[in-house]
Amino acid sequence: MSLRLVPLKCPKCGSILKAQRKDLVYQCENCGTFVYAPTGEVLDVSILDFEVMRNASKYYMPFLAYHTRARIYDEEVRGFFAQRGMGGEWITYIPAGGSLPSEEVVRISKMFTSNPPSNRNEVQSFRDASPLPMEIPIEAGEKIAEFIFLSYEVDRPGILQNIRYEFEAKFSRVVYVPVYYDNGYIIALRGYGGD
Ligand SMILES: [Zn+2]
Repeated sequence: MSLRLVPLKCPKCGSILKAQRKDLVYQCENCGTFVYAPTGEVLDVSILDFEVMRNASKYYMPFLAYHTRARIYDEEVRGFFAQRGMGGEWITYIPAGGSLPSEEVVRISKMFTSNPPSNRNEVQSFRDASPLPMEIPIEAGEKIAEFIFLSYEVDRPGILQNIRYEFEAKFSRVVYVPVYYDNGYIIALRGYGGD
């Protein structure tokens, strides 16, 4: 067992980082740098602006983004509509806050992976809403990314008999996505079911 006895300091300005709640991400109150608590490393972060208006509580949900690469060597599919599998490169987005049930994590991740939120308006800081604590560690997200890749293979037509593949998910950054909470989280970007 390891115990952190040394207070976590901002790698940029040296200020002591205050943990206010259970969150894997700390933000330096002095210079705004985002730090990944388990390792003390600086995180690359994007914050996206609200695009959908709704009368409900507003938050920013952290998503882990991974550069994902897969190669399928052999695949045996039985069934009439067997097609080529998923291979190549893409970005996997994993919602990492809001205590989502695992089916929701997979559903939202697939929505973002097929419709990446790039080219959205970025803002420099959180506006009138707080970020939800990041609950899924970076390494756990890598495993989820692989699970999601495999679930695409299992879900498509035909019965998957056998697969031999190579998979890599390299963490790139945290993307804070605007959401509303109204008996569940609603993505506040156009084109994600909330508009
Ligand atoms: Zn700082």
